[in-house]
Amino acid sequence: MTRQDPPPPTSGCRDAPVLKERGQHEVFCGLTGIIWLHRKMQDAFFLVVGSRTCAHLLQSAAGVMIFAEPRFGTAILEETDLAGLADAQDELEREVDRLLSRRPDIRQLFLVGSCPSEVIKLDLARAAERLSGKHSPHVRVLNYSGSGIETTFTEGEDACLASMVPGLPETDDRQLLLVGALPDVVEDQALSLLAELGIEAVRTLPARRADTGLAVGPNTVFALTQPFLGGTHAALERRGARHLPAPFPFGEEGTTAWLRAVAQEFGVDASRFVAVTDAPRARARRAVAKAAETLNGKSIFFFPDSQLEIPLARFLTRECGMEAIEVGSPFIHKAIAGPDLDLLAPGPVISEGQDVESQLDRCRSASPDLTVCGLGLANPLEAEGLATKWAIELVFTPVHFYEQAGDLAALFARPLRRRAALRLEAAE
Ligand code: SF4
Repeated sequence: MTRQDPPPPTSGCRDAPVLKERGQHEVFCGLTGIIWLHRKMQDAFFLVVGSRTCAHLLQSAAGVMIFAEPRFGTAILEETDLAGLADAQDELEREVDRLLSRRPDIRQLFLVGSCPSEVIKLDLARAAERLSGKHSPHVRVLNYSGSGIETTFTEGEDACLASMVPGLPETDDRQLLLVGALPDVVEDQALSLLAELGIEAVRTLPARRADTGLAVGPNTVFALTQPFLGGTHAALERRGARHLPAPFPFGEEGTTAWLRAVAQEFGVDASRFVAVTDAPRARARRAVAKAAETLNGKSIFFFPDSQLEIPLARFLTRECGMEAIEVGSPFIHKAIAGPDLDLLAPGPVISEGQDVESQLDRCRSASPDLTVCGLGLANPLEAEGLATKWAIELVFTPVHFYEQAGDLAALFARPLRRRAALRLEAAE
């Protein structure tokens, strides 16, 4: 049988003092989420109502699709719109009509707000309602904000999923809802583990297509697969669904704890749980151990960016032998991050929000072996001699559940190996 997890710390970090910072922050905007959401939702289209800057951000982050019809685009607000000289609502409506008549494959259309659309106070909720009335039942039109004003890049997915919840049909069925956009291959692994545990009534939000019959109600329990879904969590609770708090399924320990929370809710007996999880747990431990050779004993500093920081700090300290110096997160939602904080041994500074200059000072003075941060900070810190890991890679790479545990650890080991190799070269 797989060896036991190390015991939880006698007191975790749930009640540790939090350094709250409200200064300048360095993050991407929520439009970034469209890059992975459009791949997941195969009959959805994301229409950003924004500027040329927004279009460039999307285009450079997603690359140009040559062979496929794109499932995102930008309705550019021109100067006449920004100056209030044209009726942007009418233009948007014409744009949407053109798009939908050309693309009958679109079943869900998201109007995505941006900084410029918010600055001119373009009412996308009203536009979505009007357009939905016009194009339903074939197309459902929703809206959310991907604006970069006071947000972080993973909030785009949260806002998108939260926008879908109020319109879901009601059900009294007892069901499990997995919440968070996972790559299909990872989602299939999770569904197969749950099926082996005998849990068959499982739905996912977002669903791959609009016509999957996704519904929600008082007998729905939901498990988050991403820690940045605070808005979606609140929207589901408003619909009567109940959250299953658990550590996030990163690494062997997190995956087992997440599955155990679900198994207990659905009355799976302990022997079946062991029979299903024993082999993948052992595989995950072996894969993590390989990368942990590089990570063991190394220190890590997290700038607040993806909101994955707390569960990742738990994984890296408990399964890979790293020492966390600071764990910064844009927001700390105890109902969501609490179970991971319980497992994180006291020691690191836990910070919420950002004041980038003072955090940079703390990072430089700690001189960590590895710094996890956004792209904008990574290059300057590398130039100062620090090894860095881009936080954004963690949402573009499959990292959840047992079969990806080794890849997750390897993502952090790679920059350390590269730096060691560069040092070696320089010494020769
Ligand atoms: S939404 Fe705002 S931050 Fe994002 S690309 Fe557009 S202008 Fe820039």
